[in-house]
Amino acid sequence: MAKMYYDSDANLEVLAKKTIAIMGYGSQGHAHAQNLHDSGLDVIVGLREGSRRWKQAEEAGLKVMTVSQAAEKADVVMILLPDEKQAEVYDTQIKQYMTPGKALAFAHGFNIHFGQIIPSSDIDVFMIAPKGPGHMVRRTYEEGAGVPCLIAVHQDATGKAHDIGMAYAKGIGGTRGGVLQTTFKEETETDLFGEQAVLCGGVTELMKAGFETLVNAGYQPESAYFECLHEMKLIVDLINEGGFGWMRYSISDTAQYGDQMIGKRIITDETRKEMKKVLEEIQDGTFAKNWLMENKVGRPQFNAIARREQEHQLEKVGAEIRSMMPWLKKH
Ligand code: NAD
Ligand code: MG
Ligand code: MG
Ligand code: MG
Ligand code: MG
Ligand code: MG
Repeated sequence: MAKMYYDSDANLEVLAKKTIAIMGYGSQGHAHAQNLHDSGLDVIVGLREGSRRWKQAEEAGLKVMTVSQAAEKADVVMILLPDEKQAEVYDTQIKQYMTPGKALAFAHGFNIHFGQIIPSSDIDVFMIAPKGPGHMVRRTYEEGAGVPCLIAVHQDATGKAHDIGMAYAKGIGGTRGGVLQTTFKEETETDLFGEQAVLCGGVTELMKAGFETLVNAGYQPESAYFECLHEMKLIVDLINEGGFGWMRYSISDTAQYGDQMIGKRIITDETRKEMKKVLEEIQDGTFAKNWLMENKVGRPQFNAIARREQEHQLEKVGAEIRSMMPWLKKH
């Protein structure tokens, strides 16, 4: 059984006399900074001069300074910048302030695992990776719950890296949901695989394929949207609460018969073979290399595909349908 930690395994006191710098104020950054602050810890936010997030962070009651200033002041430096920018910012604005005994933290292992950031051996390096989007890290904390996290220690120079990491996880609400012990390698490879094959890439292509199949057969796009997109969350919520069993209890027996008989014709042996290939390309660094190269040349493919996806009929129909559901916030 994997090692899991909860509230009573973590002591916030470990961070009581320390200053924590949160670098970046995006999806994860705003959530970590506000949660740690609300947990009573000393938090500063590091941003670029002129960043539009500067005012947002100040309005949330946080101290903001440049990345270098924050790195100099802090005992624990959490890097919540985009993965593809972390190495450059670390080398130019953070590294020189990481004096012996300080701690460097990440929410994803990409830069350590693929050797883009190589910290000096006299600092602690750990990861607290929430297994959920940043906005849920904030929302669940405010509700008294928490997004489960992974913890990993890459370097333990002080002998306290694990305890500092656990206190950090408690401060963002992670220990309420549970914290799973892992390694940088396991987190990096499983996180990339999950978002590519299942959670993001897999799910969006599955929805799109279903939507297109119905629309091409002459059904109304609105019907196709409800069946293949809108209802997904309702079904996934049941799985999230009680596994496949609870979801199948809730759906009709007709739906369960179709589910059990037909699913295997959609996710075929060929799909599984391709999943294995996708995993191998993550493990051997092919994906990391492609993504870093794509950024070096100004993201031509990333931008072209993002544009095409935005223009898909499914996004237009969806926007209209969602505008009639006022409880769904506009994004
Ligand atoms: P993001 O893109 O939402 O936010 C990045 C922040 O960094 C922004 O505030 C941006 O203004 C700032 N920034 C960008 N370049 C900068 C620079 N040169 N100097 C200073 N600030 C700069 O990023 P994110 O999605 O929150 O991801 C942060 C980290 O968290 C990544 O390692 C990611 O893999 C990890 N993570 C993200 C999620 C998620 O829900 N988005 C989930 C788990 C882990
Ligand atoms: Mg994003
Ligand atoms: Mg993830
Ligand atoms: Mg990820
Ligand atoms: Mg139905
Ligand atoms: Mg049933």
